[in-house]
Amino acid sequence: MPTRPQRPRATPTRNDRSPSARGRSSDFYRSLAWRRFRRRYLAEHPLCVDCLDEGVETLATQLDHLQPVVDRPDLALDPSNVAARCATHHSRRTVREHGGFGRRRRGEGG
Ligand SMILES: [Zn+2]
Repeated sequence: MPTRPQRPRATPTRNDRSPSARGRSSDFYRSLAWRRFRRRYLAEHPLCVDCLDEGVETLATQLDHLQPVVDRPDLALDPSNVAARCATHHSRRTVREHGGFGRRRRGEGG
């Protein structure tokens, strides 16, 4: 029975940086403080700000941070750092922030 030569184990330099520091914000979105804040804010600002821009009144279901929580955790529960948005506008904005699509604006034609 041939035995395989054991390779010396390659030990690459290990860096202790966590793979995604950004993932931490998900903990925040599950927190009671955020859920309370969100509910309260949406009760006071029930309409999507982007839809209002377009002259449409749509109930907002999402609360969007202007400055991302990972960048400014101190502003996470600051009413001046959030905007109420409908699901459509919220996901559109999220996609844009993640660099998905260009900066094409509605009404520019093309
Ligand atoms: Zn909207």
